[in-house]
Amino acid sequence: MERSAAGLQAHEFVLSNLSPSVGQRRFALCVVLVLLVVFVILAGPLSGLPLRRVDAFVPAYGTAIFVIDSITAALLFSQFSVLRSHALLALASGYFLTALIAIPWTLTFPGVLAPEGGLGGGLQSTVWLYVLSHVGFALFAIVYILLKDADPMEWLSPRSIRSRVLTTVGSVTAVVCCATVFVTTGHALLPRIMLDTAQVSSLWYYVVGPMAALFVGALVLLWLRHRSVLDLWLMLVLFAYIIEISLTAFPIPYRFSVGWYAGRVYGVLSGSFVLLILIKEVTMLYGELLRAVLAQRREREARLLTGDAVAATVAHEIKQPLSAMIVNASATLRWLDCATPNIDEAKAGLQLIVKDGHRAGAVIENIRTLFKRDARTRTSLDVNNLIREALALVRDDLQTHRVAVQTDYDQSLPPIEGNQVQLQQLLVNLITNAIDSMATEDGDRVISLRSKVYDSGSLMVSVEDVGRGVDPSAVDLIFTPQFTTKVHGMGMGLSICRSIIEAHRGRLWVTANLPRGAIFHFTLPTHREH
Ligand code: ADP
Repeated sequence: MERSAAGLQAHEFVLSNLSPSVGQRRFALCVVLVLLVVFVILAGPLSGLPLRRVDAFVPAYGTAIFVIDSITAALLFSQFSVLRSHALLALASGYFLTALIAIPWTLTFPGVLAPEGGLGGGLQSTVWLYVLSHVGFALFAIVYILLKDADPMEWLSPRSIRSRVLTTVGSVTAVVCCATVFVTTGHALLPRIMLDTAQVSSLWYYVVGPMAALFVGALVLLWLRHRSVLDLWLMLVLFAYIIEISLTAFPIPYRFSVGWYAGRVYGVLSGSFVLLILIKEVTMLYGELLRAVLAQRREREARLLTGDAVAATVAHEIKQPLSAMIVNASATLRWLDCATPNIDEAKAGLQLIVKDGHRAGAVIENIRTLFKRDARTRTSLDVNNLIREALALVRDDLQTHRVAVQTDYDQSLPPIEGNQVQLQQLLVNLITNAIDSMATEDGDRVISLRSKVYDSGSLMVSVEDVGRGVDPSAVDLIFTPQFTTKVHGMGMGLSICRSIIEAHRGRLWVTANLPRGAIFHFTLPTHREH
């Protein structure tokens, strides 16, 4: 059970399983429209317009396709190793096939290695390799579409995953090598498609027609079954392929016309879509994972710190009643040990012991309410309400020290998810510290409490006083356990406050309130209703 739960979480993070957001869908639609508009402009009479023959174009194009498609294939193979889905293996094979065929395609292209094509067969070889690359990719894409909803093969061991990838890579390489040898040496056996650089035989249309139909079929099938971000971008790739085939198929004169160059550009684009989106999503997911790991570590440290804080508070608070109990018990024993035991004094001593016992019990009870097991219970909370409730709890203290309160609430704050008792304790601590810092100072005593939106994912609360202020050298020290400048202070308040805030994935810090006083700020992540 444990293993499958962990597996499920991994799946949720992988691109081929994430559903596309509305923004991603809109962006894909925009790309489709741009591709279509450019196609409409180019597909007209402009398409056949001959352009200058740039010999460096073909090797550059071939290299680009090889690099882009092989990186995409590598990324898809790595997704396969995480997800263990045959569908991804098929898609990766498609990209690997197009990457490999780009090599003989470039080398057979007339003018690259030799005027009539380096590997033999010239234009015929180039065209047949082009057909093989496209048909192969479309078939692998269809296999991907048909298999993509099948259950992942969780039982596959890392070793068998590696051997499947190696077998696939080996098989595709073997197919491409055989096809290259066949096309270049046996091109005379193949039907002629290219009559010369400017003319195609009618066979071309019988080849390119079904090829385009294969892509249209794949696109329709994917449209019906699309689910993930990868599916969305694969649809775009298939769409760009269809445009590329249309542009390449019809311009006359055939090579180096506007349509032909545009077709090649669409070819590079169709290769790049999935790569770009894979890189972008993988980088983003990596960032998110990093943030999650850091947050987890912070939470663990906060929990440890909370443990330290509890231990120190218990030790500090309990020690005093315990010492008093020992002293009183010894005194009581002495009263009873006398030749004429003094029962009244002994009774008084025992009563003191009972009182100290209750005091120790109360201390433990207080600490338990702060750190009891339901400390992890989180509910949806309105921060402005929390501030109001905390102010109500310290009302007596505020009145005793004649402290005025100013509040400035942002009424549009989104709710936060948190532990009510802990967050209230935090606010009470900050307000009590502010009262303490002004108690010994002359002049007006005012506490200002503010809530506002901090950024798109968090809100901020600040507690501002006009008291003594925090010594700049102690700005970090005050958050450490047992640091105090008060005669009866324990130095635990702020360290507990910071633990609480960090356990809520927020931040707590202090700045100076000029000309006098301190401002304690804390942020909390907001949770918006979906
Ligand atoms: P305690 O209140 O027991 O001293 P805290 O952890 O709450 O423990 O505070 C630690 C120290 O931080 C205080 O002793 C004080 O020096 C400083 N401090 C806290 N709040 C304020 C404040 N509002 N203004 C000035 N100093 C403060």
